Amino acid sequence: MPNGVLILAEAEGGEIVTVTKELIGAAQRLGAGPVSAMLLGSGVEAAAGKITGAEKVYVVDDPALAQYTNDAYTQAAAAVAQKADPAIVLMGQTNIGRDLAPALAFKLGTAVAMDTIALEMKDGGLHTTRPAYGGNARAVNGFSTTPAIATVRPKSQDPVEGGSAGAVEKVAFDASGVRTKVTARTAATSEGVRLEDADVVIAGGRGLGGPEGFAKVEELAKLLNGAVGASRAVADLGWRPVSEQVGLTGKVVSPTLYVAVAISGASQHMAGCSGSKNIVAINKDADANIFKAARFGIVGDFATVLPALVEAIKKVKAEG
Ligand SMILES: Cc1cc2nc3c(=O)[nH]c(=O)nc-3n(C[C@H](O)[C@H](O)[C@H](O)COP(=O)(O)OP(=O)(O)OC[C@H]3O[C@@H](n4cnc5c(N)ncnc54)[C@H](O)[C@@H]3O)c2cc1C
Repeated sequence: MPNGVLILAEAEGGEIVTVTKELIGAAQRLGAGPVSAMLLGSGVEAAAGKITGAEKVYVVDDPALAQYTNDAYTQAAAAVAQKADPAIVLMGQTNIGRDLAPALAFKLGTAVAMDTIALEMKDGGLHTTRPAYGGNARAVNGFSTTPAIATVRPKSQDPVEGGSAGAVEKVAFDASGVRTKVTARTAATSEGVRLEDADVVIAGGRGLGGPEGFAKVEELAKLLNGAVGASRAVADLGWRPVSEQVGLTGKVVSPTLYVAVAISGASQHMAGCSGSKNIVAINKDADANIFKAARFGIVGDFATVLPALVEAIKKVKAEG
């Protein structure tokens, strides 16, 4: 009889990433049986010992898992799922989770709910809530198959605090069935804070008029130790890299402060930033949709507003 919640842990540079703690926190709060974690990779055993709040940590440690591939990771995750026999599997809505969850669901003959922001147990089963129609509606889903698999949006759940390390159990994995091999990997160069992790995001839109319009956006981001984001219009025009795109087809961010500069606030853009705690909009059109979501709004030309804002923040910082 399937029981408990299995979460996918992720490690980067030997450290457990924040979303893992959020998944364990969410799994504990569900109260759906024992919480276990799986960590897949190569040379990850030491990191497994750093996972707290899960009773058991299943580790698949194999050179074939050194780089993420859908092929190898799906096989490894399925091996763990078969051993652990969970009722629920949770992953982060991360680069890995969003690719792996559907493939694992297919392999296990079950269903998956993607990009969920709330989880609850109802009538003995998992129910998930996720934004639909570009963030304009919420869809609540139940499952008629097990395990119920869901990806969870980073920062939507409170992380587990403290707790002891779980018992590590190695799971055997036969890599001979892996047909995909990563031959090269090029890291995108980015400076400063990662967009997904940033507590402050300053995003620019087409109204900035060109790549040079981003100079003040960058300055403001630097001043507030934030990251730069962009609308799709901007990424499509090649003014900024696609990696900075926020929205339905870009990244989902939920910082404390999201400043949208010359962004109209189309629903597809809002799908990526509506989880922000405070949205500040700067737009010359007082009727722009972005103002509906904004906590604070400044109606004006960015070319006037941004330098004034930068100066005012510098002054406040200097005053200490
Ligand atoms: C399937 C699909 C997926 C999509 N995915 C995404 C996505 O992931 N992310 C995304 O962002 N979009 C996405 N889009 C596109 C989206 O619909 C909008 O077209 C896009 O977000 C518009 O970008 P923008 O706000 O920068 O540009 P615009 O809509 O052109 O808005 C520019 C804004 O700047 C203001 N402005 C102009 N000049 C100034 C100035 N001098 N000072 C101040 N304000 C000024 C204008 O008033 C206007 O509000 C998607 C669309 C589709 C169909």
